[in-house]
Amino acid sequence: MPEMFKVLPPGEALKALLDHLGPEVRSEDLATAEALDRTLCEKLTAPSSLPSFPRSTMDGYAVRAEDTFGATESLPAYLSVIGEVPMGRIFEGVVGPAQAVVVYTGGMIPPGADAVVMVERTQKLDEANIEVLRAVAPGENMIQVGEDVKEGESLFDAGHILRPQDLGGLMALGITRVRVAAALRAAILSTGDEVVSPEQIPGPGQIRDVNSYAIAGLIARSGGIPLLQGIIKDTYESLLSAARSALNASDLLVISAGSSVSTRDLTADVINALGKPGVLVHGVAVRPGKPTILGVCNGKPAIGLPGNPVSAMVVAGLFLTPLLRRMQGAENPPARGRITARLTHNISSVPGREDYIQVRLEEREGDLWAEPVFGKSNLIYTMVKAEGMICVPLDSNGLHKGELVAVELF
Ligand code: AMP
Ligand code: MG
Repeated sequence: MPEMFKVLPPGEALKALLDHLGPEVRSEDLATAEALDRTLCEKLTAPSSLPSFPRSTMDGYAVRAEDTFGATESLPAYLSVIGEVPMGRIFEGVVGPAQAVVVYTGGMIPPGADAVVMVERTQKLDEANIEVLRAVAPGENMIQVGEDVKEGESLFDAGHILRPQDLGGLMALGITRVRVAAALRAAILSTGDEVVSPEQIPGPGQIRDVNSYAIAGLIARSGGIPLLQGIIKDTYESLLSAARSALNASDLLVISAGSSVSTRDLTADVINALGKPGVLVHGVAVRPGKPTILGVCNGKPAIGLPGNPVSAMVVAGLFLTPLLRRMQGAENPPARGRITARLTHNISSVPGREDYIQVRLEEREGDLWAEPVFGKSNLIYTMVKAEGMICVPLDSNGLHKGELVAVELF
């Protein structure tokens, strides 16, 4: 590859791209039930307290705590049982001195009672009388009104990406609709005369399309809707016309392959022809993934990914995922979280470039180790066999065996 690039560090390259996009986020009103992984466009506060009534956390007896003070196995407190709290309903009555009411986990504490004695701490004398074998303090074994969340309390800021427990928490408060960032339509074009559809049996010299699908997966995980536009031949006219209609029908365009600087590489020319300002960055200081193109065409981002699948995925993780998150008004979280592990091998690098290395994780005697999956960058199975990726930072000469490294999980 000729050294014709003016390569930018990835951080600067991403900034150059994001600086060309406006801050506005397109939003939509969505059923909370369908809002998993979507980004909130509104700040939410609790419309009411949770729980809205005091609840028992145990099966047992609702009592006045003071009636149990001093109770022990040898000197129990005697209480009379005046009824049972029906689940999902109120107990008709008040717990008076030396009285108890049967209550189950989640049941409403009846008026008059201020604690629950676990059934295991009682002895039944007959149908209407119990002995309490241990004292309880006021509030023991129960949840107070608003102990989970208080009315008016802040729940989430705009930009929060909704997780499964968040959907449950919203539903608990009756927030059944939310304003979230509209799903972004991301068109993917694969180019390459040698690339054929996975359904086909490749002829001599041909390969099946990997990138359309791997990149579509990343897009779907980042709140986007991947629109696969198929495989386009390596001619300027066919690529430009496919790219133009793809961009018209979507919010952003991804072109796989043809992103380098040889005469066979058409992506940069096509992005420049699609609209202003066109290519902003051509070449980033990343390995794998140097032949990367970041552009904006009349307000819509266009990204040219290197054709080789591992490079394509690394670059998509560095630029496409943060771009999608930013267009939804969200911070960019690590894909599946980040963990720390010890490196099993030395890794050398050169300063001035970020290196991304696939690793497998292994537990040895209680410690987590990251073992590099070495392989040429165009082998998709180096990535398939890995569980995450580590980065050798821009200015580093490499990493040492035994060093603690951050592993970004796939
Ligand atoms: P290019 O970026 O066009 O120079 O392609 C780099 C390498 O990636 C070549 O070996 C291509 O055959 C391969 N490649 C290009 N597109 C794809 C694709 N969609 N799936 C798998 N490999 C690809
Ligand atoms: Mg090519």
